[in-house]
Amino acid sequence: MKSYSGSCLCGHVQYVAKGKPSFPHLCSCQICQRWAGAPTVAWVEFPLETFSWVTSSDKPDFFASSEHTKKGHCPRCGSSICAIDEGYDKISITMSSLDDSSSLKLGKQHSYQSELPAWVPWNLETQT
Ligand SMILES: [Zn+2]
Ligand SMILES: [Zn+2]
Repeated sequence: MKSYSGSCLCGHVQYVAKGKPSFPHLCSCQICQRWAGAPTVAWVEFPLETFSWVTSSDKPDFFASSEHTKKGHCPRCGSSICAIDEGYDKISITMSSLDDSSSLKLGKQHSYQSELPAWVPWNLETQT
């Protein structure tokens, strides 16, 4: 089973995601924007069952960003790492926290594209 490793900026939180990555997509909702401090967030999902935090590292701190979603960030450096939806069997990982995301390709899905700030240079090009 192929595995993907990743970590926060300071290395305090590290993970290994195994299995097939699914639904690589962008989300530009205002919650993701504030949470990541970025105009959009690239997400990819992995099976929760085979996902693990590296034992020698710490786990993220979680913030309930909505009623059924909690978002995880490093308690030390604040890096945006993951999101877990209540009752869902996958974990969403920020593609930028992966050590090597070069084998992944973004799908066409761009959630909340209309909320992408007007100052993003590729905003107009990607509007359909
Ligand atoms: Zn960190
Ligand atoms: Zn979002």
